[in-house]
Amino acid sequence: MGSTTGERRSENAVAPGHLTAGKEGADAQGVIYEFQRQHVCLDPRVCSADNRPTGERRVPMARARLMDGSRMAQDITLHAAERADEFAKRTGRQPCLATVLVGDDPASATYVRMKGNTCREAGIESRRITLPAASNTNEVEGEIAKLSRDPSVDGILLQHPVPEHVDERTAFEAIAPEKDVDGVTMHSFAAMAFGCRGFVSCTPGGIMRLLDAYDVDIAGKNAVVVGRSPILGKPVGMLLLSRNATVTYCHSRTQDLPSILRAGDIVVAAVGKPKFISGDWLKPGAVVVDAGYNEGNIGDVDFDEAIDRAGLITPVPGGVGPMTIAVLMEQTVDAAFGQVNLDKSSRAQSTRA
Ligand code: NAP
Repeated sequence: MGSTTGERRSENAVAPGHLTAGKEGADAQGVIYEFQRQHVCLDPRVCSADNRPTGERRVPMARARLMDGSRMAQDITLHAAERADEFAKRTGRQPCLATVLVGDDPASATYVRMKGNTCREAGIESRRITLPAASNTNEVEGEIAKLSRDPSVDGILLQHPVPEHVDERTAFEAIAPEKDVDGVTMHSFAAMAFGCRGFVSCTPGGIMRLLDAYDVDIAGKNAVVVGRSPILGKPVGMLLLSRNATVTYCHSRTQDLPSILRAGDIVVAAVGKPKFISGDWLKPGAVVVDAGYNEGNIGDVDFDEAIDRAGLITPVPGGVGPMTIAVLMEQTVDAAFGQVNLDKSSRAQSTRA
């Protein structure tokens, strides 16, 4: 787990041929360094007497490997597209994802648009329902219940957050479990917790797929999840637990977060605060999954610090974000097959995460 690349990074640029690798060591925080001895260069064509380097310096041994969510998401979306095509050939219609947007929050509108674009790539019909910001809970619930009954709709996504005066939980619960491709209902959460058939929450599902793709050994490892929201922190912790990690949840009341994080072999950041987790809070070699997405494409982890400390790390953007949408596409196609009973195992497969 957390293997490193061996790629070396010099702190100062030095002409090649002046350095030889020396002994290795570690600083007080456990960061592994290689000591490089600097020679006096004897070749006057390369080095004048004035700039001959001397002494010894520390160079961090390795940088973390990146977990490339964009590439993996492309593969998942491509596979979903092949299955959507097969579904269309067998039924005469495309799988259909209905997205419900309440109000005109620009960030939410962007997310809905992005999901619509990926639907198009995957051969999935995207049906958009936009409700006025003043809609009340009954109206939102009623619209979703209608989609739940509509046989031409396979998956339903309520874009959240909804306006404060709408009871989000009531609205979510109007989604039929077999169409809950975003994994937000109590039914889906319980199914995930019990390891039963059902749709998994997309971001946690995407995180687990990434960990598996990079052969991260989860069983017996200390996993620290920072954040406990119902759509992200809580479910990802439960999925890690179901794979036999020892899971610690941290939240806004957690005391001495750095010392908890330093014991984490796997860290999932789901806080929503830019660069909240410093590099020196991480255990050297840790697997770091940054689910945070803050203004300016900034994650919850200080990436520049963490990359010299972690073994594996997700970039922001290009890590967890694309995986979320890819899992949504995959689960929508699963739901379509499940709805028309063409593939009874499809929903079971989506709980693999
Ligand atoms: P959220 O509902 O606001 O939850 C944030 C969590 O962080 C809460 O559990 C909160 O604790 C905890 N927290 C806040 N301050 C903390 C502190 N000082 N120390 C430790 N924990 C603290 O957010 P969310 O919906 O889970 O999203 C989290 C981040 O993930 C955001 O950046 C969001 O944009 C991103 N996200 C990304 C994707 C994706 O597809 N990539 C999907 C969903 C979310 P309390 O429970 O005690 O308040």
